[in-house]
Amino acid sequence: MELKILGKYGPFPKADGGTSSYLLKAGNKNILLDAGEGSFSRLVKEILPENLYAIIISHSHADHTADLGVLSYYFEFLSRSGKKFDKPYLFAFDDGSDIITNAIRSPYFNAIVIFDGFKFEDDITFEFTALSHPAVDHGVKIKCGGKTFAYTGDTNVCEPLENFVCDADVFLADGGFLFKDWNENKPHLSVYHVSELSKKCGNKSIITHFNPFYNEGDIFAEAKRAGGNFIIAQEGETYEF
Ligand SMILES: [Zn+2]
Ligand SMILES: [Zn+2]
Repeated sequence: MELKILGKYGPFPKADGGTSSYLLKAGNKNILLDAGEGSFSRLVKEILPENLYAIIISHSHADHTADLGVLSYYFEFLSRSGKKFDKPYLFAFDDGSDIITNAIRSPYFNAIVIFDGFKFEDDITFEFTALSHPAVDHGVKIKCGGKTFAYTGDTNVCEPLENFVCDADVFLADGGFLFKDWNENKPHLSVYHVSELSKKCGNKSIITHFNPFYNEGDIFAEAKRAGGNFIIAQEGETYEF
């Protein structure tokens, strides 16, 4: 598998940055994980959107869905121009928000409404687990070619989290806070938690969802202190595993 970071910030980006969005290549399939601000223009640098197999939306917050509407406009345009294409799957939990409800109803996506424990099997397997965030968030585990990758979306510490990430060879996780700003009522994990989880699990973490006001040197130092095998996500970079 191969993961390209399209946007690594949240809840808003830096100048020329983007918010949560990642392009995963699993086998010969392209999967878009969240569609944050700036993701569409970065996606089209990599692939034609009609070559997406699936779009997975972890939750409805704007920093994960800002470009979902324009992605739908793109497919509407293709369709009206008479171009034949396979509609991408859209996996999302229907929380009743306009952005999600409109996307699920869009005739240009092949929408599949997910829930905690939902599993979809093709030559790739997707398994969804509800995690802990103010908007209902589902992490996804993706299995392909003997490898397992997991993405948390946005979450703080919760009961299913450790098993969820430990089952993966590599996981991408929300390290939205430095530990000094974190507590158990906040909406995100800390950088320290994510790196520490990869130490406990004996696997590799890719830490993301950075507040643009944080200093990256502080983020790196905190992840190092926790002792895990980690990568600090960088926009435009591709990680292979
Ligand atoms: Zn977020
Ligand atoms: Zn969120």
